[in-house]
Amino acid sequence: MQNFQGVGVSPGRIIGSVRQMPKPVSEPPSGDRLAADVSPEDAVAGLKAAAQAVHDELKGRADTASGDGKAVLEATALMAKDTMLLKSASKLINAGSSAERAIWEAGASVSEMLHNLGGYMAERATDVLDVRARIVAELRGVPAPGIPSSDTPFILVAEDLAPADTATLNPAVVQALVTSGGGPQSHTAIIARSLGLPAVVAAHGVDDIADGTEVFVDGAAGFVAVSPTDEHRAAATAWAETSATLAEFDGNGTTADGHLVPLLANVGGAKDAVAAAALGAQGVGLFRTEFCFLERDTEPSVDEQAAAYKAVFDAFPGKKVVLRTLDAGADKPLPFLTDATEPNPALGVRGYRTDFTTPGVLERQLEAIARAASESEADVWVMAPMISTAAEAGRFASLCAAAGIQTPGVMVEVPSAALTAATVLREVGFASLGTNDLTQYAMAADRQLGPLAELNTPWQPAVLRLVQLTVEGAEQESSGREGAAKPVGVCGEAAADPALAVVLTGLGVTTLSMTARSLAAVGTVLKTVTLEQARELATLALSAPSATEARDWVRAKLPVLEELGL
Ligand code: PEP
Ligand code: MG
Repeated sequence: MQNFQGVGVSPGRIIGSVRQMPKPVSEPPSGDRLAADVSPEDAVAGLKAAAQAVHDELKGRADTASGDGKAVLEATALMAKDTMLLKSASKLINAGSSAERAIWEAGASVSEMLHNLGGYMAERATDVLDVRARIVAELRGVPAPGIPSSDTPFILVAEDLAPADTATLNPAVVQALVTSGGGPQSHTAIIARSLGLPAVVAAHGVDDIADGTEVFVDGAAGFVAVSPTDEHRAAATAWAETSATLAEFDGNGTTADGHLVPLLANVGGAKDAVAAAALGAQGVGLFRTEFCFLERDTEPSVDEQAAAYKAVFDAFPGKKVVLRTLDAGADKPLPFLTDATEPNPALGVRGYRTDFTTPGVLERQLEAIARAASESEADVWVMAPMISTAAEAGRFASLCAAAGIQTPGVMVEVPSAALTAATVLREVGFASLGTNDLTQYAMAADRQLGPLAELNTPWQPAVLRLVQLTVEGAEQESSGREGAAKPVGVCGEAAADPALAVVLTGLGVTTLSMTARSLAAVGTVLKTVTLEQARELATLALSAPSATEARDWVRAKLPVLEELGL
């Protein structure tokens, strides 16, 4: 029996059969020529047959899909038969290029041309690049890129997943996610938690597990076993029962002694918001607006934005919805805002900083938010991502005021904002700790990199200290004036870890926002401790010399976690 140890990022114990995610298609070498024994006519015929096969495969999937997924698959299938694409590739083959290189170059120029046309046509630019990769894979006889399509359930093993992969991930067939790369704050982790799938990241060596191998996955312990034992089978059966009892949140986040900690949802659009409301979320603590426009090459219009935002607000009438302005950059590039050639994107022009280089987009977004808010019954709060200084917070607050937005706030995800929380909070009405980025910047460890997973956990005492400093900053800010301290919530993945949620409550955060699937588990565990016990656990975690000890010490005091398999 072979075991793999990674980092558990989404609980659940399950047994299933492995499907490896195909590797991305590599670019055929520049100047790659047609082989001497292949005629241009045969190469063109081969290319057309490959394009037809790609079309048929995508069309077949479109026929059984529904909604947005169906439309995307249909549009991509049509692109595989695009005459301009195939004609320009044939021309290159006739000039001596290999079929792979020809379709690669033809795809690049068609994509660029569509991009330059703007509007709807620009939206198709990425479809062309997807289609060209599929045609090259077909010519090479290797599996098509992206999540494998299958009617039978499987455990997906990949190097890592990108946000765009969510669109094609069908949770009815994908039973669990295991990656060799990715950290606890990577998008694989976020996607897994939002879909309620057990997940393990940074499990070195899993790329070599053969397709069809039966494995046991424990998403809390971060463990993967090939050839499951009877004990593993019993654990998987027990989890199937527990998960049913953990599926419902009663809509009331509180400690055992009645200290209220509203439990809110992280959403990326209306579909998530409707699902979160159904799962009992007390509001939205993070609406990642960039997720509405990830596929876009061009800035969405104010009307289009207002409609997308209102659809989320309408899921929570009378409740709080915290919307974050576009957080483009690094792991979430938006071509109309970010520069793909930046050498160090995580430290580059991202989040609020895109306003330095592309002024106007933020103002138009605030106009759309204000309009949507005025037409809805939600209590709309608006925050800026990646704020580093009090001056930035002040400028954001003035832009919000100019747009008629009453409650401006900031995300605290850069250590400088945590360290100067009192002055930052003087400028705005609230703060929300983005512990995913706060951890990556405090530890100088890219959140997407598997080998840095041990550094990249919000259990790091340094990160907990930054959370504590932010809460203290809010208290300090209130000491010089009338009224209570301004709210400091957490909307990073830390809030979805039930043990850490208790620690954060003990540190004094006022709300916890997470993927809606985690609400029930966090709510259940929070109700087992008093505020005083949560404070003691926070002190314990802060005193630990390492992240591992902080987590182990706190978990040891919360036996309910093991009982529930969390
Ligand atoms: C964070 O950084 O913690 C956060 C909530 O934002 P995102 O994960 O979208 O960067
Ligand atoms: Mg962030």
